[in-house]
Amino acid sequence: MILSRPQEECGIFGIFNHPEASNLTYLGLYALQHRGQEACGIVSSDGYALHGHRSMGLVADVFGNHEIFKELPGRAAIGHVRYSTTGKSVIENTQPLQVDYSRGSIAVAHNGNIVNAQIIRAELEAYGSIFQSSMDTEIIVHLLATSRRDSLVERIIAALDQIEGAYSLLFLTETRMVAIRDPRGFRPLCIGKLGASYVVASESCALDLIEAEYIRELEPGEMIVIDKDGLKSMMPWKKADPTPCIFEFVYFARPDSYIFGKNVYMVRKEMGRQLAREHNVEADIVIAVPDSGVPAAMGYAEEAGLPFELGLIRNHYIGRTFIEPQQSIRHFGVKIKLNPIREVLEGKRVVVIDDSIVRGTTSRKIVKMLRHAGAKEVHVRISSPPTNCPCYYGIDTPNRKELISASHSVEEVKKYITADSLGYLSHLGLMKSVGTEYDSYCTACFTGDYPIHFPNMGVDPQMDLFNKEEQ
Ligand code: AMP
Repeated sequence: MILSRPQEECGIFGIFNHPEASNLTYLGLYALQHRGQEACGIVSSDGYALHGHRSMGLVADVFGNHEIFKELPGRAAIGHVRYSTTGKSVIENTQPLQVDYSRGSIAVAHNGNIVNAQIIRAELEAYGSIFQSSMDTEIIVHLLATSRRDSLVERIIAALDQIEGAYSLLFLTETRMVAIRDPRGFRPLCIGKLGASYVVASESCALDLIEAEYIRELEPGEMIVIDKDGLKSMMPWKKADPTPCIFEFVYFARPDSYIFGKNVYMVRKEMGRQLAREHNVEADIVIAVPDSGVPAAMGYAEEAGLPFELGLIRNHYIGRTFIEPQQSIRHFGVKIKLNPIREVLEGKRVVVIDDSIVRGTTSRKIVKMLRHAGAKEVHVRISSPPTNCPCYYGIDTPNRKELISASHSVEEVKKYITADSLGYLSHLGLMKSVGTEYDSYCTACFTGDYPIHFPNMGVDPQMDLFNKEEQ
């Protein structure tokens, strides 16, 4: 069996009991676009049937034509933005997944990765299930459809009992919306209110956009069922030690969001301050690699007593470099995305802050670009520890072979990126910056300490069996 590495970076949004449900879901997805730029979709319910529209492309491109909302009637809707590096970037792999089965219709939107997906899928196929996509999410739907339990809630509980991994989920049936955060709480998920409607979103920035009032995050392991009788919360699964994903704070979430009990901007700024304490250097200015490096650069500048300048300007009309699936585009990515301001950089000793070094290509090109624009010295500072290990829980990091820090020392990386100096935030510094809301976080991308192993496969996830090239 060829093992593909199911990587998905996604955002989910749902609203229940609102006359403009699908329109507001469109707006919610718009605010979550940074979580996935490859495909998106909305499924609505008019109380009797589900209606869906999914397509490859950005939210504005897919739903910009408002005629589409005529196909999405009803007072409840869920939506999904997706980016996947697995295999096929095809329409069958867009979400929300929507199926009709013996007990009605159901749609599901998923953010995360199911680590025992291959095993469950093989078992289901052996018993005759036919899969339409290569998404791990489809397993959940099959488990629900084949369950003998009476109620939907029981069927969902039983299905998820068999699943291991990272999942923030939204289900929609004709009459109900169900939101779930996995027992380890890897991915964020929050709930809000808009008048008499309930809203659920990956990040609070989506609630802000539609002027919904933020209520709280779902607890790790919490299931919320929303129907005409209101909202019911339950904790039906065995408790686990929560391990929210630290990389959401480092890079993935939007700075205006509130996740895992904290505002992302404030956490990133603190990472920058901490970085300055750990890796101070004689310099004239601090600049950021925009946008993700900006809050940390501001914190660094503040702590180091140096001026923060805009030395690199970003073109906002293209996606995140990394999110471009084609290698050829990635190659030009940095230049397409960033341009230096010579007047800011000329003759200066520059500290440049980015959130992470993955393959090293971005930093190498940026250092070159800054020198070309006249910088006298370039000191690279990274507001997270070296990214050593792939993520199996829903962040797109490449396999170990491509991660420069997996096989090179800090000194070697410094040489490769041609910086005058290089400093990473320490693990302890990172933990200090995120605070004590949770006892621990998933830091597997930095430490290789994976909170959930792959028991059914009998392999250690640190072995790079999940190799993109194998697909
Ligand atoms: P690289 O050129 O591979 O070293 O990429 C580093 C750049 O990618 C940094 O500027 C990060 O902000 C960004 N980055 C890090 N992780 C991700 C990710 N999972 N998805 C998209 N971009 C990322």
